[in-house]
Amino acid sequence: MQDCIFCKIARGEIPAEIVYQDETVVAFKDIRPQAPVHILIIPREHIPTWNDNVDHVVVPMWQVVRKLANDMGMAESGYRVVANCNRDGGQEVFHIHLHLLGKRPLKWPPG
Ligand code: C5P
Repeated sequence: MQDCIFCKIARGEIPAEIVYQDETVVAFKDIRPQAPVHILIIPREHIPTWNDNVDHVVVPMWQVVRKLANDMGMAESGYRVVANCNRDGGQEVFHIHLHLLGKRPLKWPPG
């Protein structure tokens, strides 16, 4: 999608600290990190919200979650994966993404 900021990151048109990419998924550091590790995992395909058809990207995205959690040494200590949907979910960017947060104890419930 032309104006979508995450599509532009996936296409390499605007800079981001990319930590993983393949033909389906891109993962990069959040510019406003909420934890020592805060990575966003997105599909290359523009899908606005989790209410859309996401079935074909969920498994590839989750494989990247598991790989990064392992590679970054968080598998044992633990981590959190967040998927915000629409206004009440606090979604700001309308291109689906998973937040992978870790390397500090995370409180529950979230705000
Ligand atoms: O889930 P939500 O849509 O609220 O999260 C969007 C996230 O994208 C925010 O954490 C924000 O810091 C991040 N972001 C980014 N790089 C951009 C624009 C937004 O990491 N260029």
